[in-house]
Amino acid sequence: MKALKPELYLLPEGGVGLARLKGGRCACGHVFFPMQTYGCEVCGRTGDALEPTLLEGRGSLVASARVLLHAAKDRRTPFVVASIRLVDGPVVRTLLAEDRTERLPVGTPMQTCVVEVGRTESDEAIVDLRFTPAS
Ligand SMILES: [Zn+2]
Repeated sequence: MKALKPELYLLPEGGVGLARLKGGRCACGHVFFPMQTYGCEVCGRTGDALEPTLLEGRGSLVASARVLLHAAKDRRTPFVVASIRLVDGPVVRTLLAEDRTERLPVGTPMQTCVVEVGRTESDEAIVDLRFTPAS
């Protein structure tokens, strides 16, 4: 199993547990995603004040929208875009693992999962991060 975007998340070891997000933490306590070194959005610190930190792959639904038509013709629809507040604080915009005709209630507990998005030349699965209602 190979991650499509290894700079953004860490796959669970041996497929056990949840994928974690690669975020950052500032010396002031602010937690953000993704990791960046441009500066803290809260206090403006840069450099050594910003450290990489792994965020839990859990959160709650803030908002969602079902996309029926996409500007890119090769993009398969429908799919659901969601904003999720991670338990560590940051709100991430992501895709849900499955299309849903029924809207999930705001506040629904959510967790990370991976879906296969392709195969490597050696036929290894390439996976990407999604969210799904917590089990
Ligand atoms: Zn800060």
